[in-house]
Amino acid sequence: MSGAGKVYLIGAGPGDPGLLTLRGKEILEKADVVVYDRLVSPAILGFCNPKAKMVDVGKMPTHHKVKQSEINKLLVQFACEMPGATIARLKGGDPFVFGRGGEEALELVSAGVEFEVVPGITSAISVPAYAGIPVSHRGIATSFHIITGHEKAESSSKVIPAQAGISSAPVGLDFPALAKCPGTLIFLMGIANMDFIARRLMECGKDPKTPLAFIEKGTTPYQRTVMATLETAGETIARENVTAPAITIMGGVVELGQTLAWKKNLPLSGKRLVVTRAAKQASGITARLTALGAEVIETPMIETRSVDGGLDFNSLANFETLAFTSVNGVESFFRQLFAAGCDVRVLAGKKIASVGKITEKKLLEYGIRCDYVPEDHTGEGLGKLLAEKCTSHVIASEHGERGNRLEESRILLLQGNLADETLLKLLPQATRWVVYETLPVTELPEWKREAVAAADAVVFASSSAVENFVKMTDARPSLSFCIGRMTDAAASKHGFETVTSDETTMDSLVKKIAEYYSAAR
Ligand code: SAH
Repeated sequence: MSGAGKVYLIGAGPGDPGLLTLRGKEILEKADVVVYDRLVSPAILGFCNPKAKMVDVGKMPTHHKVKQSEINKLLVQFACEMPGATIARLKGGDPFVFGRGGEEALELVSAGVEFEVVPGITSAISVPAYAGIPVSHRGIATSFHIITGHEKAESSSKVIPAQAGISSAPVGLDFPALAKCPGTLIFLMGIANMDFIARRLMECGKDPKTPLAFIEKGTTPYQRTVMATLETAGETIARENVTAPAITIMGGVVELGQTLAWKKNLPLSGKRLVVTRAAKQASGITARLTALGAEVIETPMIETRSVDGGLDFNSLANFETLAFTSVNGVESFFRQLFAAGCDVRVLAGKKIASVGKITEKKLLEYGIRCDYVPEDHTGEGLGKLLAEKCTSHVIASEHGERGNRLEESRILLLQGNLADETLLKLLPQATRWVVYETLPVTELPEWKREAVAAADAVVFASSSAVENFVKMTDARPSLSFCIGRMTDAAASKHGFETVTSDETTMDSLVKKIAEYYSAAR
């Protein structure tokens, strides 16, 4: 269907956001619509284009929130109604491994909608790997088999045995063949029916002492491995309260997990923390908390937005030097320049200045090399450098004092609304264009509100973040980690239990969080 949107069936992997493919991330970043499942982690949803329409079709274990047939129709509908749009259908693991991705693709084909499949890392192999269990191993298992432990009742022609007591029992499986099979057996969606599956395998001759492992929430900070044997499978699930999502892996390879389990129980394993810093600043603390085992939900309280319209690009002719002081400034300037129908040729012959290396690198992405970058990478350094360059330029052209001011007035500063006055003080004749604004975030998407409500604690680095966070959330954790006394006071005022870092640095805060949870264990 020409002109319609294109649908991407994307595998999100088993949970760890690092296991999403590069292709998957690339599409999520530009998606106009994201239709996602329950098993997709909030950290992966955080990669999606913030402007994308987020549609939760998550299936709860007991009831289907949105029926498969409705999901199929929804994808076609989005494609037809949104010409040229990128529609991401984000599914746990791999879309074609028990993901019903094939059914969605068939529906798209019959509606004539263009699509692409972005494979994902299936839980069937990666979850055992995170528990230190190789699915094949020389001398132990020369094949592995991925089997559903759950069957739609209507898909089986056989009558379901009453003693199974479960309408979804996989009665259609060839148990005699599976019992004989020497390879590793991996069951997905099988926890509720494992008692039935284990009994049928033993009836068909599989050794009751066959080792098996249940791996719950694999690759996430909540991963847990429970060992059993075929004969103790059902009772172990009940005793240990193994819950979905979990896979069951059976065979000699399971024993390797005793030696190869590499995923350490880290100080923050099993903790979900909300980080309220701006996205660019948050990445540092997010990486550190994640490395300590936490699941981090980045929920910035401020966002930057281009100032739309209002810039008079014709007047660029009056300026000789353009100075950029942030990556945001570069991106916003060019976005608006292009939107106004201009291109980089309007900068021909101009001198370009950057405050530091990162901004300089960003300019290079637009094909612009910088003429001036101060050695100390500060606003003050840039101001002094420009003053000196303009002055020497003027003296060389023997214009004297008046000329000096004239040259300085030909400097254009491209900055955000919250930029400090350093540059303007050093270059009082320069002109400043505000090319982007920093504003408080006023709304959280539904998926983020749900993730915040289920978090263990929230991390605050400023009292304004506390105020804004409280305004935006109804359900939130009661515990907060704060930087500094002011932040602590604001959080306490709003009823948070507070733990405050000894020093007002991120390092000190991260250390405090790790200590807090280590002591609580
Ligand atoms: N397409 C998915 C499977 C979908 S079926 C894939 O390729 O992984 C859903 C089942 O996958 C769950 O019932 C569970 O058995 C398994 N599963 C998915 N994610 C899991 C995880 N993080 N840990 C353990 N099992 C998982």
